[in-house]
Amino acid sequence: MKLLFSAIALCLVSLATAQSPLTVPPARNAVFRNVHVIPMDRETVLPGQDVWIRDGRVERISPTGKFPTTGYDLVIDGTGKYLMPGLAEMHAHVPPIDDIAPMKDVLMLFALNGVTTIRGMLGHPRHLELRQKLRNGEIPGPRFITSGPSLSGNSVKTPEDGVRLVEEEKKAGYDFLKLHPGLTPATFGPIAKRASELGIPFAGHVSYTVGVQRAIDAGYATIDHMDGFVEWLVPGIDQIPEQQAGSFGMFIGYKADLSRLPILAKSLKEKNIWVVPTQCLFEKWFSPGDPEYFDRKPEMIYMSRETRNNWVNSKRNIQKNPLFDSAHIVQFMRIRRTMLKSLHDAGVPILLGSDAPQVFDVPGFSAHDELAYYVMAGLTPFQALHTGTVNAGLFMKDENIGRIREKAYADLVLLSANPLQSIDATRRIEGVMLQGRWMDKSFIENSLRALEKH
Ligand SMILES: [Zn+2]
Repeated sequence: MKLLFSAIALCLVSLATAQSPLTVPPARNAVFRNVHVIPMDRETVLPGQDVWIRDGRVERISPTGKFPTTGYDLVIDGTGKYLMPGLAEMHAHVPPIDDIAPMKDVLMLFALNGVTTIRGMLGHPRHLELRQKLRNGEIPGPRFITSGPSLSGNSVKTPEDGVRLVEEEKKAGYDFLKLHPGLTPATFGPIAKRASELGIPFAGHVSYTVGVQRAIDAGYATIDHMDGFVEWLVPGIDQIPEQQAGSFGMFIGYKADLSRLPILAKSLKEKNIWVVPTQCLFEKWFSPGDPEYFDRKPEMIYMSRETRNNWVNSKRNIQKNPLFDSAHIVQFMRIRRTMLKSLHDAGVPILLGSDAPQVFDVPGFSAHDELAYYVMAGLTPFQALHTGTVNAGLFMKDENIGRIREKAYADLVLLSANPLQSIDATRRIEGVMLQGRWMDKSFIENSLRALEKH
């Protein structure tokens, strides 16, 4: 997992050189005229609607032409277009650094791609200030909740360290705790206990020696990366040292006994533990094949050459490991997709999360890749979209997030095609509304151009 830390650190260095995007227009009262609405709280398309926006919320939805648009600042022609709720990237990274400026660029990459809510998975004291500035609109960007700095084998050496960090982060006002690898049953137990007493959720990785059973029993809010799942399915895992298993069990995953999946699904569901798959990370970073393939993706232009080189090298290094066997890894990938589909079908709540920025995952763009992987795993486009819209609202206990209905937040994406028919339509963005602030297609294109690195 050292890889994860170093990749995060490396990509941050170069974010600091980004230029500023354009100024996001202020919130206005607006009408989407004659648009197909995808409300997402049910699987349907409502054709020919007017969607009225006032004070950053959906005021009303009505058949087109029923009311005059006088008194509204902006009329957006939705003819032939589809309006869906903005997406939530529930495993995002905002640079954990002292300077807020580079954070803004990452936030804009998310927003320009229709991601209107993010969950920050590696907190920093400045993120509390950022959260406040996003809330009061001083900085435009997605809705933002954040963990504190991570609790890991590095930051927690003793049970007392763990308890102290839980108390400090709760007091500081972080939304939840991020757990990273390297915790042990001796340190994890007191962390989970103190966090539960104080009412601060914990989420993230499942340390190898902690194991998924303990994680479930302790009541993780989310288990990210499906960490520990594959390992739990491998017979005799107790006898296999962590090094040999590889990150996320990648070297031994091919041995997983999928007949045990229903037991795992049942216990996750019973404890209402949400799963954030970050399938992107695996398909891109750990997969066999030429790293240059991903480095040639058009969205890499928003990452610095240095970051891209680090990502390419990082993928190469994994492939150089003597335990890396292409056929086994392909099987591991397939097992992860099967797991995702089975857990979903068993009713385990899933949240859209791709892990960005992270190896070959460019903020915003990778959320669309993640959706595509869910569909490849067997989810319907509606089910995939549900993980990044309605589910995010349910998880955040705010049902004004992730739906289009009266009073819902005006966090919206206008598309030129129907994403319920083809998931790739989520990439065909005509405009994004961010808490009532409308960014049309030309604004998005110009802003993206300003964010290019070379
Ligand atoms: Zn992450």
